[in-house]
Amino acid sequence: MPELPEVECLTRAVRSVILGKKLDEMVFHRPDLRWPIPMQDLRELIAGKTILSVERRSKYLLIETESGYAIIHLGMTGNMLFSPEATGRWNHTHASFRVIDDSGPVGYLHYVDPRRFGCILCSSRDALSQHPLIRNLGPEPLETEGLDEILYQRSRGKTVAVKNFLMDAHNVVGVGNIYANESLFLAGVKPSRKASAVKREEWTKISGAIKSVLTAAIQAGGTTFRDYKHVDGEPGYFELSLSVYGRDGDPCLRCKTGISSSRIGGRATYFCRRCQR
Ligand SMILES: [Zn+2]
Repeated sequence: MPELPEVECLTRAVRSVILGKKLDEMVFHRPDLRWPIPMQDLRELIAGKTILSVERRSKYLLIETESGYAIIHLGMTGNMLFSPEATGRWNHTHASFRVIDDSGPVGYLHYVDPRRFGCILCSSRDALSQHPLIRNLGPEPLETEGLDEILYQRSRGKTVAVKNFLMDAHNVVGVGNIYANESLFLAGVKPSRKASAVKREEWTKISGAIKSVLTAAIQAGGTTFRDYKHVDGEPGYFELSLSVYGRDGDPCLRCKTGISSSRIGGRATYFCRRCQR
């Protein structure tokens, strides 16, 4: 499943191709993905209008015009690919947008999603912050100043395991299972501890670890369309050098103790019982 780093890299790649240009023709090859595609609204809000920004919010790609936003999510297997041809070379191409600049067409942006858990939706400018997919999202881990204080405050009275707390997008977005494992190892905090029992200074370590793990993943991913194109198979994660995830029984990189594993909230959890308290 594409995680925050993949979506961040895709956002940068899409931005490099369409910012300041227009999507003048929007062709939809099926009426729905996870939800029906609001084709008419998308044409009214987006088509033929200058693209003012391409941003990521959580794992949503937001394409802004003077009228509103296209809201795109990749689901489990989605991707966006750019090609000179109107008809994508890829199976499961569900939408194709022609990109034009002042001199004419420059290519086509295709939405490809074999399993169709993704979505293409839209919102007027004013309604975006109240959109059902957007309004309850927690802070961005990379852009938010004072993330440690926010997490500390939000975790007071929360008896859920700190790992589950981090994976809850109401608290902070974009920390999937692998990133939660890796961040807690880096921070030296045991994943099963109650969120309410994590001390203020430990939240500083955790939020710093989240930022560095996600930043490293984004850097590993690069910024071009070539880097994320496993369209016909499992998209997979970027190649990460994982410190703890999946290393059950292997020696801890810090202390050589065998890495322990368990399940928390049904998700695979890895930790060093000596380094993480
Ligand atoms: Zn250790």
